[in-house]
Amino acid sequence: MRLLDRLDRELGEGAGLIAIFDYDGTLTPLVSTPEAAVLAPSVRATLGRLAGSERARLAILSGRGLSDLKARVALDGVVYGGCHGLEIDGRHLRFRHPRARSSGIAATRRELTDALPALPGARLEFKGLSLALHYRGVRPERWPDVEEIAASVLRRRRELTAIQGHRIFDFMPRIGWDKGQAARWMVKRMAPTLPNGRVVVLYVGDDTTDESAFTALRGRALTIRVGTCPTAAQYHVRGVREVQTLLRRMASALAA
Ligand SMILES: [Mg+2]
Repeated sequence: MRLLDRLDRELGEGAGLIAIFDYDGTLTPLVSTPEAAVLAPSVRATLGRLAGSERARLAILSGRGLSDLKARVALDGVVYGGCHGLEIDGRHLRFRHPRARSSGIAATRRELTDALPALPGARLEFKGLSLALHYRGVRPERWPDVEEIAASVLRRRRELTAIQGHRIFDFMPRIGWDKGQAARWMVKRMAPTLPNGRVVVLYVGDDTTDESAFTALRGRALTIRVGTCPTAAQYHVRGVREVQTLLRRMASALAA
């Protein structure tokens, strides 16, 4: 793989590494419920090797709530970004977007809680600064109803926006912040903590929400989309197993 050769060469020549990974569908296979997306022990071990390297900084940036994400990864020395980067914490970095308010989110939670019994299989996940409406469990003929509910929330609450992912509407404050903005914030603050010299930046994600990061990091990072969808990323990998290969190669190159 061209990408692996390039990483081997650059890391072999002593470059530092900033690696930002999405979680679901990137570090863990996509599964039928969000609760079931568990990090494999071997992947955690490799991430731990990366996070422990003097020459590497590791971040995990997800639509999940910050505390949920931290609990699932459970590694020290990692920078965690929750709610698409509205909240960031780890390795001496701490951020909460100053304009991210939860009032509209809390009100929407109450409204949707009332609407959901009419949609069997739909589920709400409250994440503090964002709110996910999951509908992987809803029968396909009812998906237009889910879409109408989401559209009606956005008509009524102009302060919110919705990010669409794998059978999920993620309601967030409309403040122009996304994974792209968050990834740039992270890179800017992690880079000065590395030893001087060349730094390779890498971003890996599998979803439409990661496209903002591929675009925001253009020219600055090696960008990698998991899966075969059209993408702004420079590289593709086929699936989570290839992400794991990538992780192991990076950890070995840094240890050499
Ligand atoms: Mg994902």
